[in-house]
Amino acid sequence: MMAPVQVGTAHSQPGKLVYGRFETVALPTGESDYLPVIIAQGQAGGGPVLWLTASIHGNEYDGVAVIHRLVTPDLLPNLTGTVVAIPTLNPAGLRTGQRSPYYLRGKDPNRLFPTSPNLTRSPRVPYQPALELAYARLFERIDATADYLLDLHDYGIRAMPFVFRDPVLYREARDRPRAEKLQHTVGEMLDALGLTVVNEYPSAEYLKLNLHRTVSGATLNAARIPAATIEIGGQHAFNGANITAVTSSIRNMMRWGGMLPGPPEPVEHIPIFRPGYPLQRTTHPRAPTACIVQHVVQPGDQVQAGDPVAHLADIYGRPVGTPDGLLRTEQAGIVLGFFPGIAFYPNDSILGMAVRGTDNMVIRV
Ligand SMILES: [Zn+2]
Repeated sequence: MMAPVQVGTAHSQPGKLVYGRFETVALPTGESDYLPVIIAQGQAGGGPVLWLTASIHGNEYDGVAVIHRLVTPDLLPNLTGTVVAIPTLNPAGLRTGQRSPYYLRGKDPNRLFPTSPNLTRSPRVPYQPALELAYARLFERIDATADYLLDLHDYGIRAMPFVFRDPVLYREARDRPRAEKLQHTVGEMLDALGLTVVNEYPSAEYLKLNLHRTVSGATLNAARIPAATIEIGGQHAFNGANITAVTSSIRNMMRWGGMLPGPPEPVEHIPIFRPGYPLQRTTHPRAPTACIVQHVVQPGDQVQAGDPVAHLADIYGRPVGTPDGLLRTEQAGIVLGFFPGIAFYPNDSILGMAVRGTDNMVIRV
């Protein structure tokens, strides 16, 4: 007997695709915002429950497209288990093309998911925005039903697809074996996805930036459910080849999880780096002075220390920073993506990069 899965008004039905809504923030003009919910369930009993969530940043569209391509009636005949898909966690931001919903006033919605009291000593803030309370209700459904979660994002204005791997945090020494087991399962899941894996910031910065309160960070660290963030392409656009590749990679992850039959399908037309050592996110290099930037590398390029990555000029087009205007990376790594605009201020980051990092992703806090 298949366990029924209920999220908002969507109630799973064996062999069917059902649609519903999960109410979030009451609106002063009446009614309320809601999250669209799709539940696809295989006909046969049993099987895992995979959550796919997208567009918590409203200007990130590729995850919507991945869900629209993947979670269709065509999925049902071969499906074992259940897919719960939420094409947008931020409908207000999607409508306005903004990262944050207008009623969150500039705060990042992907830092509002619950934290475990076991992990942080900071007292709870007395004031919680309505959206934070709604996400807490949604998180209760994730916690109760999910076996795996993938949260879909876009990175910068142009980017190669990659996966962010969150650290698993633990507090008591006796919890370490379970934390290691959880991170091991995450590793298998990431191997099955087959995309480039980039580790999140090391522990202190991870907590300081509230990354344990992202959708994937909270699912992993508060609910202890394998989860990851997939960065698909650049923001404000559909990036077709990246969408196709990531849709294939998620189907491969589902094959690993026993949710789809058959061998892995090829994941094509995107750069994939598996260098044999861990990669870690960084932003580098930085603008030495105010400037207009023209990149001389592309997302997916591999660079060595000393390679030029951008040409810097003043508004008259004259080189700045160095005599030839070429900004060179001090670190070897992979160009993940570009940040918006051409006008940069002193010390602004020019590139998102992946560089050689630590493989210690099970961290005592
Ligand atoms: Zn995002």
